[in-house]
Amino acid sequence: MKILVIGCGGVARVAIKKCGQADDVFTEILIASRTESKCKALAEEMKNTTRARVTTAAVDADSVPQLIRLIKGFSPDVVLNVALPYQDLTIMQACLECGVHYVDTANYECENTDDPVWRAAYEKRVKEKGFTAYFDYSYQWDYAEKYRKAGICALLGTGFDPGVTQVFCAYAQKHFFDEIHTIDILDCNGGDHGYAFATNFNPEINLREVSANGSYWENGKWIETKPLEIKREYEFDGVGKKDMYLLHHEEIESLAKNIKGVKRIRFFMTFGQSYIDHMNCLKDVGMLSTVPVEYEGRQIVPIQFLKALLPDPATLGARSKGKTNIGCIFTGLKDGKFRKLYIYNVCDHQECYREVGSQAISYTTGVPAMIGAMMVATGKWRKPGVFNCEDFDPDPYMEALNKYGLPWQIEENPVLVD
Ligand code: NDP
Repeated sequence: MKILVIGCGGVARVAIKKCGQADDVFTEILIASRTESKCKALAEEMKNTTRARVTTAAVDADSVPQLIRLIKGFSPDVVLNVALPYQDLTIMQACLECGVHYVDTANYECENTDDPVWRAAYEKRVKEKGFTAYFDYSYQWDYAEKYRKAGICALLGTGFDPGVTQVFCAYAQKHFFDEIHTIDILDCNGGDHGYAFATNFNPEINLREVSANGSYWENGKWIETKPLEIKREYEFDGVGKKDMYLLHHEEIESLAKNIKGVKRIRFFMTFGQSYIDHMNCLKDVGMLSTVPVEYEGRQIVPIQFLKALLPDPATLGARSKGKTNIGCIFTGLKDGKFRKLYIYNVCDHQECYREVGSQAISYTTGVPAMIGAMMVATGKWRKPGVFNCEDFDPDPYMEALNKYGLPWQIEENPVLVD
């Protein structure tokens, strides 16, 4: 199989190395990104570690014609988009025009939220949907009919969350419950990189997500909260006690649609006080704004300038110590009786660094990105249209998680989040 990977940042680095490990499936890997020197450095690092043929190219993934030229020149079996959510629609469009399957890890987000055309469409969607997040699945789900007609498959959001968390939901539904009533997705990073402030994936995307209004889904509708308004404490296996905060997260939208009978879905992520204090301060002074400002005759986007100052998440690997614990707590009924369980993975930053030279957040995203691409490329998960991870049989994906470095565990009767 030939895979084209677009993007060469923190997550891509892991996904590409894992494709190299899976060289019984991926025999040719083309790494293409904006800065080709990063692709070349990675290809050089992979020399003599894989039987796959690894080549590189430069591409501006905001340009559909450039993407089409690239795809036609390589003829991949699948395109894996691990650039930024801003590029989702251009890459989906190019895959559609070339008739090639598409896979990504995060849903579409508009780069400039001040763009009047985008803003008008956004205001309309806010009214229809009941939450104000800048990102949602509707832009990509709108491609479903076109992908169906073209006979190609798009698999959306195969990272950890979104991604593995939805596979956990499908697995719980298939094997453990007759009815799922509640889902709490918990994302705990108990690691420490030693910086007062750094984000563990792309700072721009991370800070836009965390500083936005929270929301959860209950009894058929969305309930919005102020940013970080709902806080809980939880004792995580392998990590210990952590504060976690309710966020809006994209997989809630697709799970609400696809898990029949579910009554409530929430998403919590852990943050330390230092992270929150820094983020709030940066927000208060306008540094998280996505709207360009003029500075000494130049247009500058504050959050992009901030990104340039912060540590690159791809370089945190050597400094990060500790573990992550990410999973889903389910409650519901089995054979008429109440049941609760937690399906989760614990991942160690230093072990990830020893294996692929990355910290655990990139690892827990990059491994499922490769697995999702592998599911589509091999046809284990493939049908014409646009799909999320809970739309397919979870069993082969769950097996692959164990095989490729993200073994999962099940705890019966976990403590519930109030
Ligand atoms: P990085 O910023 O480290 O990497 C992004 C890469 O995309 C860089 O190589 C960048 O190029 C490239 N890129 C950006 N714009 C373009 C463009 N116009 N054309 C071509 N290449 C471009 O991000 P991460 O690796 O941290 O994140 C990657 C993706 O993973 C994001 O979409 C993020 O939201 C998602 N993610 C998903 C998670 C999940 O669990 N589902 C968790 C964490 C992240 P350059 O090197 O030139 O800057």
